[in-house]
Amino acid sequence: MSELLPNHLAGQWQAGHGAGTPLVDPVLGTELVRVDAAGLDLSAAFAHSRDHGGAALRALSYRERGQLLAAIVQVLQRHRDAYYEIATANSGTVKNDSAVDIDGAIYTVGHYARLGDTLGDRRHLVDGDAVRLGKDPLFQSQHVLTPTRGVALLINAFNFPAWGLWEKAAPALLSGVPVVVKPATATAWLTQRMVKDVVDAGVLPAGALSVVCGRSDGLLDALQPFDVLSFTGSAQTAQTIRSHAAVTQRSVRVNIEADSLNCAVLLPGEVTGGEAFDLLVKEAAREMTVKSGQKCTAIRRIFVPQALYDAAAEALRARLARTTVGNPRNDSVRMGALVSRSQLESVREGLAQLATQAEVLHDGAGHPLVDADPQIACCIGPTLFGARNGDRADRVHDTEVFGPVATLVPYRDSAHALALVRRGQGSLVASLYGSDPAALAAAALELSDSHGRVHVVSPDVAAAHTGHGNVMPQSLHGGPGRAGGGEELGGARALTFYHRRSAVQASTAVLAAL
Ligand code: NAP
Repeated sequence: MSELLPNHLAGQWQAGHGAGTPLVDPVLGTELVRVDAAGLDLSAAFAHSRDHGGAALRALSYRERGQLLAAIVQVLQRHRDAYYEIATANSGTVKNDSAVDIDGAIYTVGHYARLGDTLGDRRHLVDGDAVRLGKDPLFQSQHVLTPTRGVALLINAFNFPAWGLWEKAAPALLSGVPVVVKPATATAWLTQRMVKDVVDAGVLPAGALSVVCGRSDGLLDALQPFDVLSFTGSAQTAQTIRSHAAVTQRSVRVNIEADSLNCAVLLPGEVTGGEAFDLLVKEAAREMTVKSGQKCTAIRRIFVPQALYDAAAEALRARLARTTVGNPRNDSVRMGALVSRSQLESVREGLAQLATQAEVLHDGAGHPLVDADPQIACCIGPTLFGARNGDRADRVHDTEVFGPVATLVPYRDSAHALALVRRGQGSLVASLYGSDPAALAAAALELSDSHGRVHVVSPDVAAAHTGHGNVMPQSLHGGPGRAGGGEELGGARALTFYHRRSAVQASTAVLAAL
């Protein structure tokens, strides 16, 4: 039997009492490790985090907590090679794709470490200026933000076991709030190992960082009113979470990052083979294949002017055909596996659904697998659909196929393009491609109400832009509507979720002493 990974709860390593769920190599089909959390006292563990981890973190200033994050960066960098090995084995990703998760995580912690330094020696944040409440200027109101005295429970999706942990944990710890992370079972190993390395290095106070792996039973029952819950995953699980008594009765603050039908739009006025056209094709093909399309921000819909539809289809087809798929241990492979057999089945079901309303422009099933047994490996080539009548193709706008899949859709004019984009009902990111700054700016503002991020690619930033799907800690991550309505990152904005806002009404002398 494989190793049973322990959980870190109440400042101790604790094995679950059940047999455990095996984690599997999605390329070789071999069992790697097991995870289990059955029979553990989660209420006691959360109480320990609040009482010990929370108190110890709140006693520190933002600068000191930033220094803890800087120490975490060093620990993670020391063990980076081991993380790559785990990612290859458990997520089936090629090195470049593992980097998005692992190095993206380390970069994000580093960003919040530096932010801690700029926030300085304070233990609370001031929100805006003091304002007079009446005629007499002596009595005023000052809003302040203080760290919530609860735990931050992070429930994460399988696709980012490293970044998913740290993009949430870094702002939480910097805010002075202890973290309990529950990784998705399929890829929990990397999250557990990172927590283990940081705990073993002794850089954080006891109770500041905990990990619970395996079944989620009872997790939300352990939440109390001042706890916060940050969830990333499917819209279906999000619905279960939103209706739990922790949220409906105990007012636990929740942030939801759910699935999203992100898009790329080539603006009118561009030509086949022009710079903007080429940038769109390159980015769309890249987004389809990075992490085998298992990115919440991946481009799912590609909108181009009607006259450029055939040329765009051809250019995308040519790029996708060059994608080598298979065992990530083989250097010639550019795209590894989906995370599990059930994800492969789910992608196949999604492909069948899209095929009822769209034509296949490039068929992923035709890609031979390199160094991998098709009977065992959860690998599939990239598939491009085309929907010549985007107005009638409902599935294209409402079905997230969480794999290397996108649909090309032609539009008549700008208004039609924007209307089609809006059929996605809110998403994490839309990217715009064009060479007219005024037209790009106008489209960006048109879409910003319904997209957490609008990524604009013009020829002048061809080499400088950070990528449609790459989430940078400086920018907001999250989106309205079906994307879950959440907000994460965005530099210092991320800290608000882990703080409570309060208005202190007092004499100016008292406010000056805050
Ligand atoms: P999922 O099945 O919803 O699972 C997400 C997490 O919720 C896992 O840790 C899961 O644990 C846990 N969970 C399941 N049922 C639960 C319950 N009743 N109570 C509490 N926790 C529960 O999603 P997934 O398949 O891992 O991830 C894929 C989805 O995530 C995609 O739709 C993708 O778009 C979305 N996603 C969104 C973002 C974003 O930032 N917006 C980022 C990444 C992924 P188990 O694994 O143990 O079941």
